[in-house]
Amino acid sequence: MARKRKTKPQPSYKPWLALLLAAVLVMQFGYLSGAIRVPQPASGAATRPAQSPTVAATPAATAQPMFGVEPKPNPSPPLQKPSSRALEETVLITPPSQDPPPEALEQPVQPSAPINRPTPNPQPQPLTEKKPPQPYSSHTGVVRRILVGEEKLVALTFDDGPWPDTPAVLEVLRQYGAKATFFWVGLHLQKRPEIAQQVVAEGHAIGNHTWSHRNTPMTPEEAGEEIERTAALIRHTTGLSTSLFRPPGGRLHNGLADYALQQGYTVVQWSVLSKDTEPLEALTIADNVLQGVQPGSIVLLHDGGGDRSKTVEALRIILPALQAQGYRFVTVPELLESNQAAIPKAPSN
Ligand SMILES: [Zn+2]
Repeated sequence: MARKRKTKPQPSYKPWLALLLAAVLVMQFGYLSGAIRVPQPASGAATRPAQSPTVAATPAATAQPMFGVEPKPNPSPPLQKPSSRALEETVLITPPSQDPPPEALEQPVQPSAPINRPTPNPQPQPLTEKKPPQPYSSHTGVVRRILVGEEKLVALTFDDGPWPDTPAVLEVLRQYGAKATFFWVGLHLQKRPEIAQQVVAEGHAIGNHTWSHRNTPMTPEEAGEEIERTAALIRHTTGLSTSLFRPPGGRLHNGLADYALQQGYTVVQWSVLSKDTEPLEALTIADNVLQGVQPGSIVLLHDGGGDRSKTVEALRIILPALQAQGYRFVTVPELLESNQAAIPKAPSN
C-alpha cells in the first residue's frame, strides 16, 4: 500500500488508459448488441433482417373478424380441423387473378408446412403453401343423372345462394337428415359468408355457379374470371375447394362450361326440373319433382335469387314423400361415387 502511494506522483497516463479501455468495451458491447450501427457497404448479410417477420400472423389476425360464425363440429372432413387452423389456411390467399387453377391444387404439397417458418425472403408465404383441399370428384364431363342401379339415391341441388332463404332450406333438410348440393354465386357469397359457413358446417356439398350469374357468350379470359374468382372466395370463406360447376341457366355453349371442363371440373346439370323460379304453388313445385325423380336423379331447385318461400314449402312435401318411397338424399359427390362403385358391376360396356 505504502509502495503504491509512492508512485502516485506520475499518474498522467493511467486514468487515460482506463478511459480508453472503457470506451473500447462500451463500443464493442454496443456493436454486438446492435445498439450501434456501423456503416457498411451494402451486402446481403448486412441488410437482411436478423429474424424473418412473422408475415402470416398479421393477415390472420386482421382477417379473423370476417368470420363471424365459428363452424360447428360436424362429420364433414374439412371442418374437423380446428377452426383456427382453417382460418390460417384460408387467409393466406392471393388475389383471384393470381389464384392457381384447380388442377394446381391437386399437386402434392407438403401437408404441414409451417406458416411462420423463417425464410431469407421476407415476402408473405405463397398460396401454394396451404394444404390443398380435397376435390370432390375426379370426373371431368357433364352429368345430368348418375346411373346408380336400383339404389334409391337422389341429389337435391340448390342454385343462386347463399341467400336469406337458405337457413329455412337448411332447416327442412336437417329435419329429414338430407344432404344436398349448393351452387353458389360469388356476388351472393360475398354478402353472406356466415350463411355459407352454416351450409358447409351442416355437411352439404358446394359447387361453383360463377361470380355474376352472367350467361351471355364470353371469352376464355372472362369465363376464367367468373369461375376462378368464385372458386377463390369459396376457399377463402369455407376452406373448401370444389370441383363441381354449374353454368347459369344450364347453358353449355357460352364459354363457361368449356373453361370449367378444361380445368377439370365436373359440370353438373340436372334431370329433374322443379320450375321453382316460375310463379307456381308449392304443391305444383313438389309435384314436378315427385313425378320426375328416379334413382340417380339430380333435381334443380333454388335457395337464392328471389323469394324462395314456395321452394321451402315444397321441400316439406318432397322430402317426406320421397323418403317414404325409400329414397336417400345424397350430395352430388356421393352420387358420383356411387356411380364409380357401380361401374365394375355393369353387365356390358
Ligand atoms: Zn342460377
